[in-house]
Amino acid sequence: MKHDKIDAIFSKFIRLLCDFTCMRCHKKYPRNSQGLHCAHYHSRGKMSTRFERDNATALCYGCHSYLDHHPAEKAEFFLNLLGQKRFNKLNKLANTPMKIDKEAIYEELKKKVAMLE
Ligand SMILES: [Zn+2]
Repeated sequence: MKHDKIDAIFSKFIRLLCDFTCMRCHKKYPRNSQGLHCAHYHSRGKMSTRFERDNATALCYGCHSYLDHHPAEKAEFFLNLLGQKRFNKLNKLANTPMKIDKEAIYEELKKKVAMLE
């Protein structure tokens, strides 16, 4: 799937929120490192959760790859991260098809990133 400018700024937003630290093994990365990913729970194909804060977290390459190959552990990991209520809400949103206003989301993310930087 193509990575666009909104994916790029969303990734930066998530990594900033996580202080450039892998949320599974707690290793910290330099800001410009390619080693830390913005990892999605529900795949980026689902537009309703593609740019949703609760649908993503920072994971290093190793942890990202491990969790993507162990779906049950990945679900458990996000459940622990979010708590039951937010996890349920996220799953419901993921299964709600919707059109999103990409430009509005992009502008919103730009403001949030500027605030965090
Ligand atoms: Zn890690």
